[in-house]
Amino acid sequence: MNYASTPLSVTINIDEIRSHFPSLHQKVNGYPLVYFDNGATSQKPDVVIEAVTQFYSQQNSNVHRGVHTLSQKATDLFEEARITVQKFINAKSSNEIIFTKGTTDSINLISSCIAHAPLLWRGEGGEVLISTMEHHSNIVPWQMLCEETGALLKVIPINDQGEIIWEEYLKLLSNKTKIVAITHVSNTLGTINPIKKMIDEAHKKNIPVLIDGAQAVPHMKVNVQDLDADFYCFSAHKMVGPTGIGILYGKEKWLNAMPPYQGGGSMIKSVSFEKTTYNDLPYKFEAGTPHIEGVLGLAKAIEFINGIGIENIQEYEHELLAYATKHLLEIEGLKIIGTAKEKASVISFVIEGIHAFDIGTLLDQMGIAVRTGHHCTQPLHERFNISSTVRASFAFYNTFSEIDRLVDGLKRIKKMI
Ligand code: PMP
Repeated sequence: MNYASTPLSVTINIDEIRSHFPSLHQKVNGYPLVYFDNGATSQKPDVVIEAVTQFYSQQNSNVHRGVHTLSQKATDLFEEARITVQKFINAKSSNEIIFTKGTTDSINLISSCIAHAPLLWRGEGGEVLISTMEHHSNIVPWQMLCEETGALLKVIPINDQGEIIWEEYLKLLSNKTKIVAITHVSNTLGTINPIKKMIDEAHKKNIPVLIDGAQAVPHMKVNVQDLDADFYCFSAHKMVGPTGIGILYGKEKWLNAMPPYQGGGSMIKSVSFEKTTYNDLPYKFEAGTPHIEGVLGLAKAIEFINGIGIENIQEYEHELLAYATKHLLEIEGLKIIGTAKEKASVISFVIEGIHAFDIGTLLDQMGIAVRTGHHCTQPLHERFNISSTVRASFAFYNTFSEIDRLVDGLKRIKKMI
């Protein structure tokens, strides 16, 4: 069934875009694939796949190490990629762009190093402030830091719509708060947090703020200088780039104030058995051989996104979200978890009487990929008194007719069970 004509304001050439994603043109269990698990990882366009292949077939060599031509070529491409990332999020300097394994690694870098930087972590004890809707990656590293330092983990509560309770946030911010670590967009609820306002409030008390941007950067314009974020973390694989590569953005003054995360090659200026001196930023935080092809693929992913325009992506995905929300709610017994006013293109839901796992399995048999479970947000699910949800998360290559297939599939499942 086709529920509606395509909304008018769509500014995206969807067929052209989809033609660049080879993985989207396959059948799964006999049906054309509908991929709605973009929150977990996105599919990759041909330009990203080619960049990775081309590195291994033509430029393969280590970076920052050799005088030979291939190594210099690889180093040039690698450092150009850093500038591409810098411009994409409007960082002041490329020294503030650290290549990591991903969001998780970026957060762990900060949680491991911050307590060793007296400029950032003053005195004993204190508190780390996170929110109820954090991904496990933005909970567990802080719990580990609290165990090590004796700091307390404090949690900002959310309302039934899945929004931060502003007054509670203000109450929890105090001269004990050492850092606020908050997600920009919830991977389960889709809530877009008012992080600019939150950063402003924290800065009034000289508290640094780390933003988990894993679900934001692929879907909206992020400008770290405008936000005045102290640290901003994201992963390439959720924004049509390769796996195993991500970014830690940090203000230069804070990155300079912290000791290195790991020791090894590249992060040093000189080594002797008596004394080692560390390299300048960004290399101080990039020990060992990096994920070179991942970095080159990430640069191509950003170019691809820039080619479409992140504002166009945001607008189109917003329409997908509105369309899906409207039609999913027509299904009797379906409840959406996460109804914030400001939402990105993620819908988590439950259907009365049917387990999320069964829904996911039956949808898969119809060629529709969704995520089921707690999506690495167990405490958030506890907040809503549920153990699991079904999550459909959309990307700019998804279509309205794919949403129709999801809605039809769910109606069939309701009849079956
Ligand atoms: N934070 C959020 C909000 C996420 O959605 C994810 C990935 N699901 C992560 C952190 C962790 O990202 P990665 O696995 O790429 O390190």
